Amino acid sequence: MDCPVCRKPLIVAEREGIELDVCPWCHGLWFDAGELELLAEKLGRSLPVHDDGVFPPAAATEKPRRCPRCDRAMEKVQLGQTPGVIVDRCLGHGVWFDHGELGSLVGQLPVTQGSHHEAVTTFMGETIGAVPSPDKAGGPAGEVER
Ligand SMILES: [Zn+2]
Ligand SMILES: [Zn+2]
Repeated sequence: MDCPVCRKPLIVAEREGIELDVCPWCHGLWFDAGELELLAEKLGRSLPVHDDGVFPPAAATEKPRRCPRCDRAMEKVQLGQTPGVIVDRCLGHGVWFDHGELGSLVGQLPVTQGSHHEAVTTFMGETIGAVPSPDKAGGPAGEVER
């Protein structure tokens, strides 16, 4: 499965029972359908990303990305509170976060008593930190296609 931004293979990472795919070039993250909900659950929040109509479609200022699973253009949806975090979603397959977007979203979710917020934040930090830096590899960072 390739990164929808860089078109390079994603690296599979699994922690805390959540499987996600990380791009070592742009540090984007792909969650398969259900995995993001699982993460939200661990944060003590309900985030049913794959219920259609729950989230408002976002004004698409970015160019649409293609789903790494089915290669169709994904839709932009807003998650979290207004102004939300705009992510790319394929309803059947999953959600794509650009670098930093997941952190913004997690920052918006109120922490409830007894949630595993810290554990998950640590997990996300580890996941991002675990991949090689694109600077060192001499590869491209960010969007090169317009
Ligand atoms: Zn990438
Ligand atoms: Zn798809």
